[in-house]
Amino acid sequence: MPPYLSIVVPLYNEEESVEKLLAGILEVAKQFDFAYEIIFVDDGSQDNTWAIIEKLKETTPQLKAIKFRRNYGQTSAMVAGFDHARGQIIATMDGDLQNDPSDIPLLLTKLEEGFDIVSGWRKDRQDHFSRVLPSKIANAIISWTTGVRLHDYGCSLKVYRSESVKSLKAYGEMHRFFPALASMTGARVTELPVNHHPRKYGVSKYGFDRVLKVFSDIFAMNLIIRFSSTPLKGFAFSSIPFFLMTSFFGILAVLSWNFHWTSGKTLFFFIAMALSGMAVVHLITLGVLGELVVGTSDLSHTKLPRYKKIIMEKGEEQDLKNNQIDALSQEHSSDLNILPNKAGSVHDDTNGYA
Ligand code: UDP
Ligand code: MG
Repeated sequence: MPPYLSIVVPLYNEEESVEKLLAGILEVAKQFDFAYEIIFVDDGSQDNTWAIIEKLKETTPQLKAIKFRRNYGQTSAMVAGFDHARGQIIATMDGDLQNDPSDIPLLLTKLEEGFDIVSGWRKDRQDHFSRVLPSKIANAIISWTTGVRLHDYGCSLKVYRSESVKSLKAYGEMHRFFPALASMTGARVTELPVNHHPRKYGVSKYGFDRVLKVFSDIFAMNLIIRFSSTPLKGFAFSSIPFFLMTSFFGILAVLSWNFHWTSGKTLFFFIAMALSGMAVVHLITLGVLGELVVGTSDLSHTKLPRYKKIIMEKGEEQDLKNNQIDALSQEHSSDLNILPNKAGSVHDDTNGYA
């Protein structure tokens, strides 16, 4: 029987924390009345993290572990955990003891209220001011631009219905954006205040360059969320000012030509018109290329899972898991025989993404 819950923890040089971390999780897990697994992902640690995990594994059957060949980053480590998680629910947390496993049951209770993702909110965050301030600004911008309002995107302690994250194709430092990305597939997202402790052992794996990374990721994320389905629209929209400039300089050039203003002025207006006109052409061309790329990119709108449920021929509702559905929709779409449901309406697979 597959477990109900998979707890995924990325670990990079956390040798002092890993044993206490497992003990903490096992302690909380005593109150679970369901099967669970713990997945430690060693993200290419150079210290004894992996050796300790191997030793812990001997006495802990619920523990699974993945070791990366080198340091690929927290996002990749989390995605590896998702790929190997068998639970219907996936919880993620940091491995440095800053998150508190005793919050997991609370997050699960919240999830059962009918959400797909419950994100932890470190209301009383135990990090230096220089970390907290950029994070507050980033959260405000992410919330505002993606429309998924959370106080604390950066908190790793989150629980997900596995179908809402397994299909995400994340790269770079995108783990913090999972709620926003998942909401593209219709996931219902909420947050809950959680505990946060100061880092006791080891050091933070990030420096100031994270601020730059997060801000450039915010930009990339917005492009993906807003324009991944309609890149041409985005580029056409950004060409409007250049179009206006082209018209403006065009009118001036004609006036200048007609009324014999100085030849220098006429030339200037013609060149300005030509340059802004070229910008319009380039932007539209990029938009058209974007439309072609959308069909092949992993993050593109066309690859998002669409079906949540399908009522099949015999009238029995098949609550298919998203990855199965995804495979169905991509590999056997011609075999899918979707019939009218009881109410007589036909499930339309061309526009299932809302
Ligand atoms: N981590 C990782 N790979 C990395 C960087 C970090 O697996 O390249 C893990 C790290 O071991 C910890 C979690 O991700 O479990 C969060 O990292 P950290 O505590 O350094 O981040 P901070 O709390 O400072 O944001
Ligand atoms: Mg930390």
